[in-house]
Order: sequence, then structure tokens, then C-alpha cells
Amino acid sequence: MKTANKKITAERLVKDALDKAKHFADYNIFTFLNEEGALKKAREIDARIARGEKVGKLAGVPYALKDNFLSPEGETTASAHILQEFISPVTATAVAKLEAEDAIMIGRTNLDAFAHGSSTENSFFGPTLNAYDKERVAGGSSGGSAVAVALDIVEFATGTDTGGSIRQPASFNGVFGLKPTYGCVSRYGVVAMASSTDCIGFFTKTPEDMDLLMSIASGQDPKDLTTLADYYNGESQEQCLEGLPEVTTEDDGASDPSLKNTVLAPRRIGIIKDFDNESVDKSIRDALKEKCELLKSKGHEIVELKMPSLKYALPAYYIIVPAEVASNLSRYDGVRYGFRSDESKDLDQLYENTRSEGFMPENKRRIMIGNFVLSSGFYDAYFLKAAKARTLIIEEYEKAFEKCDYILTPVSPSPAFKLGEKVNDPIAMYFEDVMSVSLNLAGVPGLTIPVGKTDTGLPIGLQLVGPRRSDKKLINFAKEIA
Ligand code: GLN
Repeated sequence: MKTANKKITAERLVKDALDKAKHFADYNIFTFLNEEGALKKAREIDARIARGEKVGKLAGVPYALKDNFLSPEGETTASAHILQEFISPVTATAVAKLEAEDAIMIGRTNLDAFAHGSSTENSFFGPTLNAYDKERVAGGSSGGSAVAVALDIVEFATGTDTGGSIRQPASFNGVFGLKPTYGCVSRYGVVAMASSTDCIGFFTKTPEDMDLLMSIASGQDPKDLTTLADYYNGESQEQCLEGLPEVTTEDDGASDPSLKNTVLAPRRIGIIKDFDNESVDKSIRDALKEKCELLKSKGHEIVELKMPSLKYALPAYYIIVPAEVASNLSRYDGVRYGFRSDESKDLDQLYENTRSEGFMPENKRRIMIGNFVLSSGFYDAYFLKAAKARTLIIEEYEKAFEKCDYILTPVSPSPAFKLGEKVNDPIAMYFEDVMSVSLNLAGVPGLTIPVGKTDTGLPIGLQLVGPRRSDKKLINFAKEIA
């Protein structure tokens, strides 16, 4: 990560990032550019550097913030009309931690409204364009953040992943994207989508940067009681490799003297046979096969896994998540936050008009589904069944990780699709998430790694999945194989 110092000032770094952001304005990446605030912070950091004071690990590093992270800088809209003009009185813990290390937010990025979607086409501000093909979607919901990193506007951006919203746009735009273990990074101050699957993570160009950001952002937070003790920083590099014997080789270390006589131990990589079918684009299946061959040639073992319960992941997700969405969105009533519809005769009408005008169609669809599956008479048939399926999926991942160290799978069935291709067909859009949502239901971490391009030049990413709390090992393994 390029940090500010006496030669390269924070002001220079910020100005460059803002210039690039403006240069790529037609991609519709940002919902707000923090010009004044970012430059002010940059000058403060430069002054501290000039005085020889200590600065943070991210001193002067410009970053992009998904517009569902609360902070008083700019409106936090979640790309939804109903949150227009909402200035947050609080700062999300993740943001506070980044800023404590002197990172500088240069803008807020576009998303599907309330993070409901896989393309950013559900945004009140219109879609973000793919970094590699302007006729294609950026992916979603964190499409703006992924493209901001892919186009080198910033070195990192924040994201949220409830069912794939970091990993899928990362793979559509050829960058790294991590959905950590549930509870690894505090959700405090992030607009809630589905509280039992929401995870906070990042987009970066390298696994090294991801490691640095996770070491800063992870940890227990008294403001989010679902956060875990800081296992991320508790683990040293040695502990990460615990139990994995060092293997000596004939390598004379000519390529890298620090590797002399050692290679890292072979791992067992699981591939999910259930995903190896026609519904997955050939370019992605080929990329997976190629990566497996490469891993084998490096001494790793490929293990075939049968995970039949994963077929329940998508239907279970689209019951559990709308149920939580309906509950979380009930707070937007036109009284406490942002937008309020005028001309209401009474309070009931104010609620109704505000919510009718303020939510996007996909938000409303989820509120309707959520209230339906939670209603008496249907709760047992839908919500409870989905909760049971979720338990099966959790158990299936636990069993899988007895047979392998990591799992490597596609992130989505196809590379970036065309704008408009799926937006009017909710089921086709939901199917985008078929390979990503099970990780959120199980709480396990997944890291998108870019592995290549299609014949037409679209990026392909694969996700590396590990057991809960294996985030650091996962990132370290990505450093080895990416
Ligand atoms: N695309 C998924 C959905 O629409 C995931 C969204 C997300 O992770 N925020 O639910």
C-alpha cells in the first residue's frame, strides 16, 4: 500500500485519487466525492509527517467507502431514495479503525439499494459499469467499490457481503474480495441487510493488502455483540502453518533465496462436484480445472467433495434473508431517517407514502417475501424449514473441512453479464448467488482470487473457502497461489 511520506504527500495521493475518480465519472462509481474533507485530512497528515510525528499504518492512503457504512462525512444513502439527505451522527467501527490508521475516504460508492442485488441495477442512482466492459454490470451489491479498485482509483475499498456482494463484484472486475468469517469484523454502524449473514470486508489488488486491512479491522467490538475475539491478530504466521510440516526440496533457492530448501506444505483442496455442471459457464469450469492442475503440479492434493445440501442454500437464503430484511427495514418510517413523503393526511399515510416512494421495487419484494415467510401459518412451512436447511449446510461444511483444508469453487455461474439482461427477471438475478450464499449461511470465510480472463477479456475469479476463523490462513494461502 502506497502510504504518504515526506516525498509523496498525502495531499498528492488524495488529489490523484480524486482526479481519477472524476476521469472515470461515466462508470457511475461514486454517490459522493469527499473532496473537501479528504484534502483537509490529507493536509493534517502531511503536517504531522513534516513535524516528524508518528502516523498510522495507512497514512494518507485514499480509499472508497461503500455507501452503506455510516459516517458523518457525506450522506449515507445505501443508494436508496428513502435515505436521501441522511447524515449519520455515528461512525461505523470499521471506518473508525481505518481512520485511526490515517486512511482517507475519498468517496462513497454505489450499491444496489440496501445491498439487495447482484448488479447495482437496483441502485436509486442507476448502475455502475463494469471495469472491463461498459456494457456489462459491475456485479453487486458492492459494484462501485469493486470498480473503484479495478480502475486503480483507490488501492482499497470497503464492502459488505450478505450473500456474495463482495466476492461476486470482485470476480467480475478482476480484484481480490474477502468475505471474512461471520463476526470477525464489527457490523456496528453498517446499514443492516440480514443480521445473521452480513459481513464486512474489503476489495484489494493483492492478498498482502487484504492481510493488512484485516489486521486493522478485525476484532471484538462492545457495540456489536456478535463479534468474535480477535483471532485474526492472535494468530502468528507460525501458528497459521501449525501442524503443516515443512518440506525440504532440491530447490537451490536461486529464484528467491528466502525460499531456500523449503516449500510450504501441500494442502488438500476440495472441489465441489455438485457445481460441476452445464449451468456453470464453460470459461469458469475451464479456469477451475486449470487452477487445479496448477495446484497439483505444486504438490497440492485435489479432493472431490459431494455437498448435496448446497442445493438448499439458495432457497433457504431467499427465505431467511428477506425475513431479516423485512425486520431491519421496518425502521425506515419517514420520521427518523432521511427522506419523508409530503402531503400525507395522517401518520399511517406518511408511513405508507414514504415507504412506497422511498424503497426500490427489489426492497419491496423482499419486505413482502420476508413478512410472508414469517407470518403465522407460513412460518413453519418456510422460515423454520429454511433454518433447518441452514443447519444441514453448516454441518456439511464442517464435514467437508475434515476432508480438505480449503475449498476452491466458482463465485458465480457466469462472468459479468450484460446490463439489463437479468434486471427484470428476479429469479434469474437470484440464481447469480447460487454459489456464494452458502458461505454466508454457514458463516465461513471466502476470498475471491482473480484467475484469468475469458476469450472476450472478462475477468474470472474463483473463491477460496476455509473453515470458520481460518481467514488469515486463507489470505496467506492466496499469497502463495494467486
Ligand atoms: N446478491 C445477493 C442478494 O441479492 C447478495 C447481496 C449481498 O451480499 N448484499 O441478496
